[in-house]
Amino acid sequence: MNIENTLNNAVKILKKSKIKNSILDSEILLSKVINRDRKYILLNSKEILNQKNSKNFNNLISRRKKGEPIAYLLNKKEFWKQSFYVDQNVLIPRPDTELIIDEVLKIFLKNSKLQILDIGTGSGCILLSLLKEMPNCYGIGIDISKKSIKISKYNAKMLQLTNKVKFYQSDVDNFKIGKYDLIVSNPPYIEVLNLKYLENDVVNFEPKLALNGGIDGISKIRKVIDKATVLIKKNGKLVLEIGFNQKNKVQEILRKKGFYINKTLKDYGKKDRCIISTKI
Ligand code: GLN
Repeated sequence: MNIENTLNNAVKILKKSKIKNSILDSEILLSKVINRDRKYILLNSKEILNQKNSKNFNNLISRRKKGEPIAYLLNKKEFWKQSFYVDQNVLIPRPDTELIIDEVLKIFLKNSKLQILDIGTGSGCILLSLLKEMPNCYGIGIDISKKSIKISKYNAKMLQLTNKVKFYQSDVDNFKIGKYDLIVSNPPYIEVLNLKYLENDVVNFEPKLALNGGIDGISKIRKVIDKATVLIKKNGKLVLEIGFNQKNKVQEILRKKGFYINKTLKDYGKKDRCIISTKI
């Protein structure tokens, strides 16, 4: 079959399964399979696909049909200024999380020499983006998931940051290395009973470990703050991503632990999403 017919077929399949951007998704997936950009596909619609490419493409379409996010099908997601390898073992980096990078760059100068800790690093997207922006900084990323650590290390290698960063598989409670000028974290913060109400592509494919914040949604945030209290330097900054309804509770915990609240930021949906605080 040629490119045009193959695409039309795929669009029909995706539409039937109520996948919203069926045309764009089909074009993106075919681009990946034949390793060409979308323009090529549109300009060469009569080109015949070989059997191997057809098979690979149909395989991706049948995964997309079941709702698997495009980022996992491409093993790639853009975040801030870089592209990161992702698979089902790590959360897909969200545009809202770029708030953390944006804010940190407002607080610190580009030439700052900071020791940075990222708790629950996942793909490494937050820490690695910060290290790219501030070349004199050093970072440590930890995650309880062994597979996440493999992925964050791979991303560090791809971004040529291996001499600036170390990743360790560790539970937040058991990590005891270093003192930090800046601690960042996007911990799991969804209430366990609300997990099932997340979008299907999130709940069916993204790792629960990266989303599940326990009964009250803040059990992991609490652990992160406890650990930050011990590992942060005086006047160090803690930048936390939080759920839309967690601002007051998290601020209270922070104050009790001796943090001054600098500000809370809203995400693109105008919901509270990020708290900046300073250890005093
Ligand atoms: N923002 C994510 C979502 O709602 C949740 C991320 C998290 O728990 N840290 O899909």
